Amino acid sequence: MYIKKLEIDNFKSFANKTEIPLLEGFTSITGPNGSGKSNIIDSVMFALGLRTGSALRIENSADYITAFNNRPEAFVKVTFGGLKDCNELTVSRRIKKGSQGYVSTYYLNDKVETLTNIKAVLEEYNITPNSYNVVMQYDINSIINTTSKTRRGMIDEIAGVADFDRRIDQAKGELEKVEQRVEAASLILTEVASQLEQLKEEREVAIKYKKLQDEKQGLEAQIGTVKFFDLKRNLELAHENILKANKDLKEKETASKDIEERIKLINEKYEELNKKLKEQGEDERNKLKDEQSNLSAQIQSKTSAIDYSQTQIQKGLQSVENAKNGINAAIHDIIGIDREQFMQNLQKNRNRKKK
Ligand code: ATP
Ligand code: MG
Repeated sequence: MYIKKLEIDNFKSFANKTEIPLLEGFTSITGPNGSGKSNIIDSVMFALGLRTGSALRIENSADYITAFNNRPEAFVKVTFGGLKDCNELTVSRRIKKGSQGYVSTYYLNDKVETLTNIKAVLEEYNITPNSYNVVMQYDINSIINTTSKTRRGMIDEIAGVADFDRRIDQAKGELEKVEQRVEAASLILTEVASQLEQLKEEREVAIKYKKLQDEKQGLEAQIGTVKFFDLKRNLELAHENILKANKDLKEKETASKDIEERIKLINEKYEELNKKLKEQGEDERNKLKDEQSNLSAQIQSKTSAIDYSQTQIQKGLQSVENAKNGINAAIHDIIGIDREQFMQNLQKNRNRKKK
């Protein structure tokens, strides 16, 4: 890949639109000092966004735009040729003075593109700020004056070897990382293997459990059936019992109706008798009442008589007592003993005579 053509418009000393063709092979541009030779390479760096500011020998963005007119913008387009997969590739940049300051717009094949994406495309062709595609005027001095080691680095960089070295380093780093990951993975693998063993055991247990559960379910279903028939039989028995009980109840109801009938009859008879008794009782009571008052009158008169007799008896008894006392006194006077003793002696004599 090489630069085929440059278009420079209003950039630095190029006030007029200028096209610079760069043919295949070696192209040199000559001119007196200050004629703008370095401005050409500056324009390439500007368009590709590879270097900025002091590297392009400016103090501020205004210096990109030519001082020869008042048109406040500059534009540079780089056309590449000799590409593998396409005919041409153009990268361009416009800088414009706006109300907010200087604004740059980048283009890839004349279409607006971000600088990041443009850099990515250029990187595919190893065009980077560090890759020495461009050797500036002052670079020559530093190449000459630098140490051989740094110079070797530069040459490696230009030859593209440095890139390989970088890639080798990168690959080594990645390899190390991968090795670490492999190590970690093998550790995990060991762990997983032991877990697998455990899981296998758990699986066996789970299978056994499932089998037993199925068996349990089967047995439960059987039990259910047995229970169902048992219940059905019980239900039938209960039904029979209910029928029987109903029959009994009906019989008993009939019997109880009989008994009720009889009780009713008895009650009626009882009532009748009661009524009769009540009527009779009334008569009887009246009779008794009469008799009672008769008897009461009799009792009254008898009691008076008794009272009288008792008074008389009392009086009699008193006089008997008096007589006794009199006799006692007399006996005592006569025989010197009291009446009691006398009577006892008399009795004794009578008994002796009997013998
Ligand atoms: P040398 O042989 O000394 O290296 P050169 O050919 O490389 O010189 P350049 O450095 O490319 O020359 O150009 C410098 C010239 O460009 C200066 O004369 C300067 O005035 C002019 N120049 C730089 N910026 C601008 C600008 N914005 N507007 C107009 N002219 C400018
Ligand atoms: Mg110069």
